[in-house]
Amino acid sequence: MFEQVLQSIAQCGWRSQSSQAAQVSHQIKPGAGFSFELSDEQREFQATARKFAREEIIPVAAQYDKTGEYPVPLIKRAWELGLMNSHIPESCGGLGLGTFEACLITEELAYGCTGVQTAIEANSLGQMPVIIAGNEQQQKKYLGRMTEEPLMCAYCVTEPGAGSDVAGIKTRAEKKGDEYVINGQKMWITNGGKANWYFLLARSSPDPKAPASKAFTGFIVEADSPGIQIGRKELNMGQRCSDTRGIVFEDVRVPKENVLSAEGVGFKIAMGAFDKTRPPVAAGAVGLAQRALDEATRYALERKTFGKPIIEHQAVSFMLAEMAMKVELARLACQRAAWEIDAGRRNTYFASIAKAFAGDIANQLASDAVQIFGGNGFNSEYPVEKLMRDAKIYQIYEGTAQIQRLIIAREHVAKFKS
Ligand SMILES: Cc1cc2nc3c(=O)[nH]c(=O)nc-3n(C[C@H](O)[C@H](O)[C@H](O)COP(=O)(O)OP(=O)(O)OC[C@H]3O[C@@H](n4cnc5c(N)ncnc54)[C@H](O)[C@@H]3O)c2cc1C
Repeated sequence: MFEQVLQSIAQCGWRSQSSQAAQVSHQIKPGAGFSFELSDEQREFQATARKFAREEIIPVAAQYDKTGEYPVPLIKRAWELGLMNSHIPESCGGLGLGTFEACLITEELAYGCTGVQTAIEANSLGQMPVIIAGNEQQQKKYLGRMTEEPLMCAYCVTEPGAGSDVAGIKTRAEKKGDEYVINGQKMWITNGGKANWYFLLARSSPDPKAPASKAFTGFIVEADSPGIQIGRKELNMGQRCSDTRGIVFEDVRVPKENVLSAEGVGFKIAMGAFDKTRPPVAAGAVGLAQRALDEATRYALERKTFGKPIIEHQAVSFMLAEMAMKVELARLACQRAAWEIDAGRRNTYFASIAKAFAGDIANQLASDAVQIFGGNGFNSEYPVEKLMRDAKIYQIYEGTAQIQRLIIAREHVAKFKS
């Protein structure tokens, strides 16, 4: 039976999209090996996050958007409910959940407010280099403290002169005895003013021709280190309650114990974190898209023109159908990307597809929802204009829409040639 399956695959020229073959059972039962069923535990996390988002985030989201205030009570509550830092290993006191579970939780939080979700997700981004490259001592010290109290951290890579072109960053780390001295400027750092510690990427090689794979080092930096100057909170288009800042590092001394892995391998660590964080970021975009679809559907059922609810105009119902198609496909893309990495396989291709697709459709759906609301959609008394402002960032942070396409194209060609 198994041989027959392999033969027919060979005849069709079918290739697995995974970079490594999954284990195949010799006794294939109908429906086995692939499932859309969530486990009881996954369902529980999803339900907790959904209840929290609907009962506690949605009622205050517009107010946080208006004031730009950092949502401390919501963050504390998310932490108490186990909806933050879900991937901190059990050895450090965390839940040790997978990327798939993180996607389920993140989608629900984003449905409530993506500003709140981004503040929470930025913790995962800051922690991920420590999870993938930190030694036991570093993990216990920096991840462990986040399970004891609701602390924030941040991922400090982007600079005023370099975002997409990470290898162009100018922040320098110079080794002096048992310490490194850091000088430079970071920009657009989420949780920048709220973090207890930072993951920081700096150029450690004095050789300007050194390749990116050898030129950079990743550090853990205590946020209260002398020489750190935190900039003003940036006034962004959307996700306004999230804290985004520039940070200046002037002669900041970091002990050599805070180097992640080894000197020179920071670029790989900083980029490697994205394989685990892009699927949840994409899930955030799906949460926003689902909210846009739900708000638009509710409105279309109530609003009447020409004597009938606008949902009965085919042009409107077809828009809703298109929106539903996109949100379902984006969710599947996130789940595939998460599932691959949780199975221990390289998921860069799937993570970028999920991030690019979900980021795009979040923007399309938010805009479509505004359209379905008509004039009301353009007004801040209704929920959808916030969704449209909030959506844009999903095409920019954690790698822009264009950078994702560069990665997908690169990975696609490599697969094709292999
Ligand atoms: C609200 C917010 C939060 C953020 N949070 C963080 C954070 O926590 N930590 C962090 O380190 N960074 C963070 N960032 C930074 C973010 O990741 C960068 O803004 C993003 O990577 C783009 O970099 P850039 O702004 O320098 O744009 P640029 O790199 O200058 O790009 C400008 C435009 O050119 C396009 N482009 C660039 N190069 C290419 C190319 N080779 N091919 C095709 N098109 C290209 C881009 O897609 C974009 O459209 C955040 C940004 C914002 C706005």
